[in-house]
Amino acid sequence: MKKYKTAILLFVLFEAIAVSLWLTSGSLFFLLNFSYIGICIAIGDVLMVSQWKYAREFVQFTVGSYILVFLGLICRENMQIEGFWYYLLSGFVGAGVLHYAIAKIFGPLLFGRGWCGFVCWTAMILDLLPYRQPAKPRKTFEWIRYVVFALSLALVLLLFYFGKADKTTLFYLFVAGNVLYYAVGIILAVVLKDNRAFCKYICPITVFLKPMSYFSLLRIKCDEEKCIQCGKCVEICPMDVEVNNNSRKRKNATECILCQKCKKVCPVKALK
Ligand code: SF4
Ligand code: SF4
Ligand code: SF4
Repeated sequence: MKKYKTAILLFVLFEAIAVSLWLTSGSLFFLLNFSYIGICIAIGDVLMVSQWKYAREFVQFTVGSYILVFLGLICRENMQIEGFWYYLLSGFVGAGVLHYAIAKIFGPLLFGRGWCGFVCWTAMILDLLPYRQPAKPRKTFEWIRYVVFALSLALVLLLFYFGKADKTTLFYLFVAGNVLYYAVGIILAVVLKDNRAFCKYICPITVFLKPMSYFSLLRIKCDEEKCIQCGKCVEICPMDVEVNNNSRKRKNATECILCQKCKKVCPVKALK
């Protein structure tokens, strides 16, 4: 059972959230929603421990497409950052605020950027492109994410100012935002030969994710005494993390998406 402890921990965590929100709000939706997500993530972790090749993709598609299609397009909840700003500025703890609080602001203290590796519906598509290992050194235009972050807030403030901040506008913004993210993400991936270029330079959500994941309980640890410095882990890492250094301050430490690719290639099992 020891090898399934992360799966059990994640399942219990999501069930605790599901039951607490159900009991406090009286809405069965919260019970079903968070139970479904927790079960998919736990199954994905079990599949990963069992070394099934597509375990990560299983979670990406079962949870990512559920959030995008069911919550976003069918239930018309804006689950992007604009939805978060909208609910926050309205003073209402809606789906957008809960989603951000759990997956992107406080959750990363426990599971780092697991969201990025296993759930995000943008990366779910970008990861299908053929540029899985970055072909070139990292660029220096990471500052763009802060501009996009500020623009997303400014956009919602403008909607409030012009009296257009309502759920219908937010829904159209969600559709347009996703089309834009996919288009920019795919173009950048092709141009820079890097599936995760959008995550590295553009995505505004990383402004929340990066500082919180620095303190993450779940992280890839390196036994530096075992490591033979072959460099295979750094070479395969899609996020350019200096994972053969155990420090939390290692290069690109807060970029780790917990995809586990580095662990699979380590010849001496130095990564845990
Ligand atoms: S960085 Fe942004 S786009 Fe990339 S996986 Fe994370 S949340 Fe998704
Ligand atoms: S390859 Fe390893 S260090 Fe790189 S993102 Fe995946 S889990 Fe993190
Ligand atoms: S793959 Fe393993 S042995 Fe090679 S550098 Fe990484 S941690 Fe060290």
